[in-house]
Amino acid sequence: MFSLAGQKALIVGIANESSIAYGCAKALKAQGADLAITYLDEKAEKYVRPLAEELGAEIFAPLDVSDPDQLTDLFVQITAKWGRLDTLLHSIAFCPKEDLHGRVTDCSRTGFTQAMDISVGSFIELVRRAEPLMGQGGTCMTVSFYGAEKVVKDYNIMGPVKAALESVSRYMAAELGPKGIRVHALSPGPLKTRAASGIAHFDEMMDAASARAPTHQLATIEDCGAYAAFLASAEAANITGGLHYIDGGFNITG
Ligand code: NAD
Repeated sequence: MFSLAGQKALIVGIANESSIAYGCAKALKAQGADLAITYLDEKAEKYVRPLAEELGAEIFAPLDVSDPDQLTDLFVQITAKWGRLDTLLHSIAFCPKEDLHGRVTDCSRTGFTQAMDISVGSFIELVRRAEPLMGQGGTCMTVSFYGAEKVVKDYNIMGPVKAALESVSRYMAAELGPKGIRVHALSPGPLKTRAASGIAHFDEMMDAASARAPTHQLATIEDCGAYAAFLASAEAANITGGLHYIDGGFNITG
């Protein structure tokens, strides 16, 4: 129904074939987009490289978002190769384990700052760097979770961090809308990924979510990809600032 043929898309957040970002990259590619794919570091490269090759990524570059030089190098490459960008997917999060596993009340200032910087500040920075390349409009997406709005057991400090991420998305959507740049937060239900394995009792969270969701099915990375691909399309040009649940209806219950 819609095509992304000729679109240029930057995908940040593939760790392996379970990553939400990989599901999105597959769907964007299937609809015709050309991809730039990043990997965190040397350790991650060996898992991400085969996926980038399978998807025919035109740009494959290291990116630790806490390193400003790597951010600069990435955007220099994108500018040189494509001269523009249509879609940005930010699908990353980080929190030091001891803070992730403790009460919000006990979260250290340094852990909080780091979690906010990597999980939220990096979205602001990526969108800011993408803006001049989106002269004809574009789509910027990040990935949040229901724990942003309700207290979800064991999600802890990532709840407030995701709340900030959602708010940032709305503000940037308002600021960039006049330029035709749309900003969205996707909110998938719990999915078994590497990042999720850092959350305590994650299997119980998944079981509870599928029991409570009206469809009794948890979202897949392919579901997330299909939704992201639609949001990236011209047909979604008048949709922005949204929080898009991809969760079998979990959010309407409870
Ligand atoms: P994942 O482990 O596959 O992806 C997390 C990514 O974050 C990895 O690719 C990792 O390299 C990257 N990352 C961490 N620190 C980074 C840094 N400093 N610089 C660059 N990249 C960095 O797990 P995922 O579940 O696909 O996570 C993607 C996003 O989806 C996260 O924001 C997560 O909070 C969110 N999310 C996950 C679920 C779930 O249940 N898995 C549900 C809702 C939202």
